[in-house]
Amino acid sequence: MFNRVAFIGLGLIGGSMAKRIKEIFPETVITGTAKSQLTIDYALQNNIISEGSSELKKVVRDADLVIVATPIELIVPTIKKIAKLVSERTIIVDVASTKGQICDQLKKYSSKFIGGHPMAGTEKTGIINSAANILHNALFALTPYKQTPKLKLQKLKDFIEKLGMRCKITDPQTHDEAVAGISHLPYFVAAALLLNADTQDKKELAATGFKSTTRVGESDPQWGLEIASTNKPAILKELNSLQKNLNILKKYISTGNKKQLLKILKNARNIRRSIYP
Ligand code: NAP
Repeated sequence: MFNRVAFIGLGLIGGSMAKRIKEIFPETVITGTAKSQLTIDYALQNNIISEGSSELKKVVRDADLVIVATPIELIVPTIKKIAKLVSERTIIVDVASTKGQICDQLKKYSSKFIGGHPMAGTEKTGIINSAANILHNALFALTPYKQTPKLKLQKLKDFIEKLGMRCKITDPQTHDEAVAGISHLPYFVAAALLLNADTQDKKELAATGFKSTTRVGESDPQWGLEIASTNKPAILKELNSLQKNLNILKKYISTGNKKQLLKILKNARNIRRSIYP
């Protein structure tokens, strides 16, 4: 589908996508760059990319598709540079966890750039932890502009689906509000739960339940900073809503209102079962 795919950023997400592309489209030439030469060398030695360079120009030259998988704060300046280096036929997509600010600042490049976010990953980072299977059956959100060329959007969508993911076309604001609730809030809640494990006794007694509930608290704190600054209003709204739910729980626990407590706990369990049948 694409003869040459270039990766800017070869960490958990970039590395995993490159591995998946290699599996499904072995003929595709994958090029890539990263911050350190160590990552580029690792990607070359492990056949994750076939050409690597620290020079952006060399990596994106002649690419049909450029996938930008750097930390969030580098997405906009990187895409502004790439847009000047690639031809009009090239598609540029990013994978960042927030879309509003990025898509807003890259409007000028709507003929080439389409916002993206694979709803997959782990709490780990780096190419060493990348794996093709983390993308299996994952949802890939795309946030095109009104002006996005239809053919480019369709081609990107077909490609993502051939990689075994499902596409959801949405707009940046809807995306950011939703991920604030299901991805960003859980991260901050996990952080708060971990801060609450403040005694030796709690730490010693912590078992698998606490481990799975706080798994995302292991995520890179730098990512936490980036989502907090690029999705602030939506995260604050979710934190307020959570505070209300905590207050309700607190009220029923303190008053011993078993009937109401049971009702909302059953409701919570039903919501989980509807999301993960
Ligand atoms: P990561 O494992 O830390 O990878 C980041 C990659 O970007 C690394 O390869 C790094 O190079 C490279 N990089 C950093 N600065 C660069 C620069 N100036 N030029 C070129 N490359 C540079 O992080 P990640 O988890 O894959 O996250 C990458 C993006 O995916 C973020 O925007 C994040 O929001 C998004 N995302 C993450 C997840 C997740 O679960 N982790 C899920 C969905 C989306 P080195 O390897 O040399 O350090």
